[in-house]
Amino acid sequence: MGYDKLTIPSEGQKVTFSNGKINVPDNPILLYIEGDGIGYDIMTASLRIWDAAVARAYHGKRKIAWMEVYCGEKAAQVYDGNYMPEETFDALREFGVGIKGPLTTPVGGGFRSLNVTLRQVLDLYQCVRPVRWFRGVPSPLKNPQDVDVVIFRENTEDIYAGIEFEAGTPENEKLAKFLREEMGVTGFFEGAGLGIKPVSAFGSKRLVRAAIQYAIDHNRPSVTLVHKGNIQKFTEGAFVKWGYEVASEEFAERTISWDDVAKNHGGKVPAGKILIQDTIADITFQHMLLRPRDHSILATTNLNGDYLSDALAAEVGGVGIAPGANIGDEVALFEATHGTAPKYTNLNKVNPGSLLFSGVMMLEYLGWQEAADLINAAYEKTLDQKIVTYDFARQMEGATEVGTSQFADVIISNL
Ligand code: NAP
Repeated sequence: MGYDKLTIPSEGQKVTFSNGKINVPDNPILLYIEGDGIGYDIMTASLRIWDAAVARAYHGKRKIAWMEVYCGEKAAQVYDGNYMPEETFDALREFGVGIKGPLTTPVGGGFRSLNVTLRQVLDLYQCVRPVRWFRGVPSPLKNPQDVDVVIFRENTEDIYAGIEFEAGTPENEKLAKFLREEMGVTGFFEGAGLGIKPVSAFGSKRLVRAAIQYAIDHNRPSVTLVHKGNIQKFTEGAFVKWGYEVASEEFAERTISWDDVAKNHGGKVPAGKILIQDTIADITFQHMLLRPRDHSILATTNLNGDYLSDALAAEVGGVGIAPGANIGDEVALFEATHGTAPKYTNLNKVNPGSLLFSGVMMLEYLGWQEAADLINAAYEKTLDQKIVTYDFARQMEGATEVGTSQFADVIISNL
């Protein structure tokens, strides 16, 4: 495909997908979106670390061919005021794998959230957030090492589908009349804002399928279906029902439900089986504070997953280092999970950890585990040396505070 403002690196090759499997050349073209605000600082630092780790791990046999694509404020400069150029979507579809810095979402602005739009347009239905503790990272928990979960949050449905009708509008009144007169619904006040929460079998099943497949591929012991099905029976409750169905219909050999374990196996999960269990969302927050070892993979509907992702990230160091990815069947977009922190723009100050570890997830997704492992180890070594950015320095005794780019230098020297 020809592009107007994008340059395809001549030395790289496309990542491809066949039968649900990714094929990665030794010099894959990977896309990056720098991001707004602190995006420049963290992307510049992280690109240097990823490249150094790949060079170190594979001695020049493998090398990433980076291709910059645009979204947000930088896109508006390049594309004459267009924050979301079509070329960016085209390139993501064509090249399949990319990473992005944070993007500004103007409150009450003229366009929808860029992040939500990217997820919806590219059908990136899994929001994947690994949450684990790195040695040395300040944490409010007594035993943060017990937290090691991967959250699979459904990304396209639930109240995020944006089906809302403002109080006082003709559409709202029409819907209210329909609900009252034709559906016999009486449980809401006159003039209430109305929202619709769609949760489908298709959407729920593909998310839970991805979570179970991840558990199989990464040797994880359990998948927990998180829900509010006690209250919202036909949306949240159905999510759980469909989740169990996927497990029993498609992964019967590898999974076992909690019911089966209790009834037929004396409460002990048989060797080689992945436990499929479910918990109510509010209790899950308690579990993750009081006995986080009970959970390994959390599969959730959209809103529950949103709350859980940030709450759990706070247990192991906060948004400054929490990584994430939005993944579809043939496009994966890894991303820093925090925002643009505008007050720190171009100050060379913030923690690049969230973007850096999103890149580590990307390396793992490519199957380049050796490079990913090098970064994880170098990060822990750097923290052992108490060399950190301002956010951790203010929580650590005797730390040496450095800027974003100096932090990257130290990690590279520790690779
Ligand atoms: P934010 O940008 O995440 O910043 C909130 C606070 O989090 C910062 O003031 C800072 O805390 C801390 N922080 C964020 N990134 C950090 C980093 N890399 N290192 C260390 N600390 C970090 O949230 P916001 O101020 O609510 O949102 C700003 C803009 O970002 C908004 O336009 C919002 O819509 C957008 N946003 C984008 C995304 C995305 O692109 N995925 C996500 C969320 C928000 P201290 O003040 O304590 O230093």
